[in-house]
Amino acid sequence: MLNIFNLKSYYGNICALHGINIDVAAGEIVTLLGANGAGKTTTLMSISGIVPPSSGEILFMGRPIHHLPPNKIVGLGISQTPEGRRIFPQLTVMENLSTGAYLRRDRFGIKEDLEYVLTIFPILAARKNQAGGTLSGGEQQMLAISRALMARPRLLLLDEPSLGLAPLVIKQIFAIIRKINQEHNTTIFLVEQNANQALKVAHRGYVMENGTITMSGTADELLADDRVRQAYLG
Ligand code: ATP
Repeated sequence: MLNIFNLKSYYGNICALHGINIDVAAGEIVTLLGANGAGKTTTLMSISGIVPPSSGEILFMGRPIHHLPPNKIVGLGISQTPEGRRIFPQLTVMENLSTGAYLRRDRFGIKEDLEYVLTIFPILAARKNQAGGTLSGGEQQMLAISRALMARPRLLLLDEPSLGLAPLVIKQIFAIIRKINQEHNTTIFLVEQNANQALKVAHRGYVMENGTITMSGTADELLADDRVRQAYLG
């Protein structure tokens, strides 16, 4: 579904990605692990067109997307949940959700997807007229994921969904991520520092250090790898 070849991205003259290669097959959950500043967010921003790569290729379902603007990339079926669960704090839960569907015209499909997200996150149904900014951190993360799902993506990009959340909430969020993948037929590329949780839910993973992919394998292989255990699993 997604093939990244020798991708390089810069901020001015600072090189953040030094020619990375990543593949995500349809139906998979693939995780990208790494410490602060490794380049994980930049990878997602490059896929979604927010930080246009300086060289290399990104193919989505065989089609080059590395020269497309973000709205076209969303339109093709890729949506991203940003780091720090950014939602619109002044807008209600329902208004936040409708912004996720702003490129769509299929009213029936939008209604169907709204029902789906309110089923997997019933707390959002209970809070539907509340301003997004008044929700707890976990609820805001649920809203950010739901808003991304409202675009009906084939590929969902999640940037550190566990960041700053309590352990119980993290468990809940990861259980839903698995559910979305299995029941909603959504392929997921998940960026995380919480390697333990991410590898429990993912099929495969990559490890990134200083803008370079240094390891890859199945989730079980990475969980058993001494270097991963020492650096990321504590
Ligand atoms: P974190 O987990 O802290 O978000 P990350 O792995 O997602 O880290 P990135 O945010 O992609 O890492 O950062 C990769 C590198 O690019 C870092 O050296 C960072 O300082 C640099 N960087 C990120 N954003 C910018 C920016 N807007 N301008 C300049 N440099 C940036």
